[in-house]
Amino acid sequence: PGGPLLLGGPVVTGFGRGSRQMGVPTANIDPVPLQGVLADMPLGVYFGWARLDTPPGAPASDAAVHKAAVNIGRRPTVDAAGADITIEAHLLHGFAGDFYGRRLRVVLCGYVRPEARFGGLDELVARIRTDVGLTSAALDTPTHAGLKTHEFLA
Ligand code: ADP
Ligand code: MG
Repeated sequence: PGGPLLLGGPVVTGFGRGSRQMGVPTANIDPVPLQGVLADMPLGVYFGWARLDTPPGAPASDAAVHKAAVNIGRRPTVDAAGADITIEAHLLHGFAGDFYGRRLRVVLCGYVRPEARFGGLDELVARIRTDVGLTSAALDTPTHAGLKTHEFLA
């Protein structure tokens, strides 16, 4: 109560369609153990700070806290109506490869927009680019920048 919402879990495989092909890979967090947290949340796009558990030897920058645009919803533009809720985070960092199975932690700082069904993939991709830009700018503001050092990410 009062603090930012904290999400953590292993990175699982999504449907493997969409995100990477659209230029915005999204690390999916297993939503099943988070059902209680999700129950009261508006679906849509959020911004926050994310940190990936990295094995020894991984580039140090991979282990840093990164900006993330986080979609929590049913992906109505690309998935069948009534699909389960997924939690997927696009980290604003260039990783050398995949990181399935590693634990991802996210401090959700704010809301970008509600879920929407777009007319097609081009419209969706354009909106995602906007969401990423808004995410980056919002996290640079003093209110949200301070959460980069939240203890959940330590
Ligand atoms: P899936 O449907 O399995 O989630 P995606 O096309 O969404 O597949 O790609 C997601 C995967 O890409 C992540 O699980 C992760 O391993 C990898 N990845 C690489 N770079 C990033 C990034 N910057 N943000 C999120 N995931 C990334
Ligand atoms: Mg994904």
